[in-house]
Amino acid sequence: MKQLKYFIVYLTLSLFLFPLFPKNVYSYTIYTKPQVLILNSYHNGHEWTDSIVNEITNVFKSKLPGSYISIEYMDTKRISNPEYFEELYKLYKYKYYNQKIDLIISSDNRAFDFLLEYRDELFPNTPVVFCGVNNFNENRLIGHELFTGIAENADIKANLDIALKLHPKTKNIAVITNNTSTNAALRNNLTLAILSKKNKVNLDYIEDTNIEVVQKKISELPSDSIIFLLTPVLKNPDGGLISETDASRLISSTSKIPVYSFWGYYMNNGIVGGMLTSGSNQGRQAAEMGIKLLKGTLISNIPIINNNNSNNLVFDYKQLQYYRINDKLLPKGSTIINAPPKSYIINKQILWFSVFAVILLLMITVIILSITIRKLKNADKALMESEERYRKLVDFLPDAIYVTHNGIMAFSNAAGLKLLGLDNIDELMGQEVMKYISPDPNSLQGWKMSHLLLNNSAMPLHEYKIIKKDGSEIYSESSSIAFPWEGDRALLIVARDITERKQAEEFKRKLEENDNLLRETRELDVLKTEFFANISHELKTPLNVVLSSAQMLEAMNCGNIKFDNSTKMSKYICMMKQNCFRLIRLVDNLIDSTKIDSGYFQLNLKNLDIVSIVEDTTLSVVKYIEDKGINLIFDTEMEEKIIACDCEKIERIILNLLSNAAKFTNEGGRIMVSIKDSISSIIISVKDTGIGIPKDKQDAIFERFVMVDKSLERNHLGSGLGLSIVKSLVELHGGKISLESEPGCGSEFIIELPANLVPETDDSNENNSHPVKVNNNRINIEFSDIV
Ligand code: ADP
Repeated sequence: MKQLKYFIVYLTLSLFLFPLFPKNVYSYTIYTKPQVLILNSYHNGHEWTDSIVNEITNVFKSKLPGSYISIEYMDTKRISNPEYFEELYKLYKYKYYNQKIDLIISSDNRAFDFLLEYRDELFPNTPVVFCGVNNFNENRLIGHELFTGIAENADIKANLDIALKLHPKTKNIAVITNNTSTNAALRNNLTLAILSKKNKVNLDYIEDTNIEVVQKKISELPSDSIIFLLTPVLKNPDGGLISETDASRLISSTSKIPVYSFWGYYMNNGIVGGMLTSGSNQGRQAAEMGIKLLKGTLISNIPIINNNNSNNLVFDYKQLQYYRINDKLLPKGSTIINAPPKSYIINKQILWFSVFAVILLLMITVIILSITIRKLKNADKALMESEERYRKLVDFLPDAIYVTHNGIMAFSNAAGLKLLGLDNIDELMGQEVMKYISPDPNSLQGWKMSHLLLNNSAMPLHEYKIIKKDGSEIYSESSSIAFPWEGDRALLIVARDITERKQAEEFKRKLEENDNLLRETRELDVLKTEFFANISHELKTPLNVVLSSAQMLEAMNCGNIKFDNSTKMSKYICMMKQNCFRLIRLVDNLIDSTKIDSGYFQLNLKNLDIVSIVEDTTLSVVKYIEDKGINLIFDTEMEEKIIACDCEKIERIILNLLSNAAKFTNEGGRIMVSIKDSISSIIISVKDTGIGIPKDKQDAIFERFVMVDKSLERNHLGSGLGLSIVKSLVELHGGKISLESEPGCGSEFIIELPANLVPETDDSNENNSHPVKVNNNRINIEFSDIV
C-alpha cells in the first residue's frame, strides 16, 4: 500500500512538472547509454575525416566512456548530386527508423547541408554539433535551434603573408582549384588578400581536373612562383578519383616550386605548411560540445565557434629543407613535423664546419697514414734489401759464421758449411755444437760458451780443433760473442780454418830447430877444431918440456954437458914430473868428460862430513898457493855436516876451483874458501881477488872447451874442460854451481849441495870421516898448470 502511494505522487508530479521544461532543451538520462551518430561528408580513409573521427571517439572514450558511437560516411567526394542525397535520406530513414539517436556530430559542408534539410524528418529533436563547415553563414540556422558547432575558416590572409614572407621574390601565385562553391568563396578571399599587398603578384588559376594536365602546367611555371592548393577534385586520365592526399603528393612531386595550402589534411603530403585547419582540433571541440549537451547544458549556452582559433601553425621539416627555407623566418609558435631528433638539429654553419673539419681530419689522417705506410714500405723494402745485402755479405765472407742457440746450431753461412764439409744447411740445423768440436777441449769450450752467455761478453780469438763431417779434424781459430736472438740470447761464432797456418808454423818450428841444430853442430865443430888445436898445444907443450929435459939428462949422462951440481938434474926431473902430471890431468879430464857424456860416470856416495873434506882439501894446497904469494883462507860456521857425497869427486871439485883461483889471481891476492849450513843444503864458496871473468863469458864458462883467453900465447895453460867437469860432478850430487864475478875484482864460485843422506852400508859404517890426507898425486895433477 505504501509503495502504491509513492507511485501516485511521482506520476502526479511528472504530469504537472514536465510541461514546464522549454521545448528546445535536450538532455539524456544517465541511466541510458548515449547514442551518438557521426555523420561525415567524406569517406573512411579520407585523412581529414579520419582525424576528426579519431579525435571524437578518443574524447568520448576518455570523458564519456560507454557511449555508443555510430559512424556514417556520405562519400560525397565520389558522388554529390541531389538524387544521391535523396537516396541517402531514404537509406538513413530506413536504417534509423525507430532508433533513438541522442547526438549527431557532422563533419564538413555536405553533411551539414544534408542535416539542415533532412534532420527534422530523420532524427527529430536530436541536437547536431557540426564541424568543418566552410563559408559558414549563420542565417542558414534560422529555424534550426538544435544546431551548434565549429565553422571552418581557412586563414587565407595569414597563409598568404607567411608564403610571401618565406618567398619574398614571388611574382606569381598559381592556385590549383576547381569551380565549386566552396572554392569560389576561397578564390574571392584570396584575390582580395593579394590585392591588399603592396607588391604586385600575378594570380593564375589551374582548374583542370586531369592530374596529368595539372602536372604539366605546374612544370611550366616560372621559378619565382608559388602554388596554393585549394581543394581541387582531381582525377586520373581514365577518370578515377584521386584522393586529396595523393593529389597533393603528385602535385608537389612534380613541382620545383613550393606548394602551400590552408587545410591540415594536405600536411605531410607535400605542402610546405602554414596556418592550417586542423581536423583533430575541430573533432575535439565538437566532441566536447556534444558531451556538454549530453550532460544537460542548454544548447543555447553552447555558442557556435566561428573564428580561426582551431587552426594550427604547422610546417614540414622535409619541405623546409628541400626549398631551403630559413626556419628562423617561420611565425612564432610554429610546429615543425618530420624534424629529426633535436640532438641532430644543429646550426648549419656548425654542421658544415664540423663536416669540413671531419673531412679535413680524415684527409690529414689519410695523408699521414699514406706517408707512414709509404715510409713503412720503404723501411720494409730497405730492411729487406739490407737483409739481402747482409745475407749475401755473410755468405760471401770467407770466414765461417755460425749462430748457436742453447748449444744447438741455428745458422751457418756457406763458408761455415764448407768448413764442416757439409753439403747443405739442413745437415747442420738442430745439431749440437759439441758434435763439431774435438773432444780434447770440449769441457773448456763448453764452459767458455756458457760463461759467455751468462755474462753477455765476447770471447777473444781462441784455437781449437773442429771435427768435419768425414771425421777428420782441422785446426780452427774463432771468436764468439753473445747477442739477442728471437727474444733470447744466442752465440755468434766466427771461425776460420787455420790448419795450413798451423802446418806452416810447425814446419817453421822444425826448420828453426834444425837451424839451431846446424848452428850448434857448427859451433861444436868450431869448438872441436879449437879443442884439437888447443889439445895439440896442451899435449905438445908438456911433451916438449919432457923431451927437452930427457935430452938434457941424456947429454949429462953421456958427459957431453957438465953439471955443476946435482940441483940442476933434480930441476929437470921435477919439470918432467910436473909436465907428466899436466898430461895426466889433461887425459883424465878428457876421459872423465867422455864418461860423463856417455853416462858411465858414477858417484860413490857415502855419508861423510863435508866440512872436513872441504877443509882438508883446502889446507892441502896451502903451500902451493902461498908459494905464489897468495893468501889462502878457510872459514866455516859449523864443525861438522854429514851429507851423502863422493869424497874423491868433492876433492876434485875443490882442487879444480882452487887451481883456477890460484891460476888467475896475481901475487899478493887472496883466496877464501867457506862453507855454510843452509839446513837442507850446504853452501861452499871459493872466492878470489883475481882477474875476474867478463860478463859475456860468465854464462858459457861452465860449457866444455870454453876459455876466456883462447890464444895460444895466453899466460895460463888449460883445456877448458875443468869447469864443465866440476859442474857435472856438482849436478851428479844433486847440487848446482853458480858464478859471481866482476872483471878486475875477482870471482866467486858458489856450490850448493843438498844435505841428503844415503842408507848406511857396512863399509860406510866403518868410518864416515874424510881420509886424513888428501892424495898428493891428485894435488900435483890438479895444480900441474900452475907454473
Ligand atoms: P882448464 O881446465 O883449462 O883450467 P876451466 O874449465 O877450469 O879450464 O876454466 C875455463 C876458463 O875459465 C879458464 O880458461 C879461465 O879463463 C876461466 N876461469 C876459471 N876460473 C877462473 C877464476 N877463478 N878467475 C878468472 N878466470 C877463471
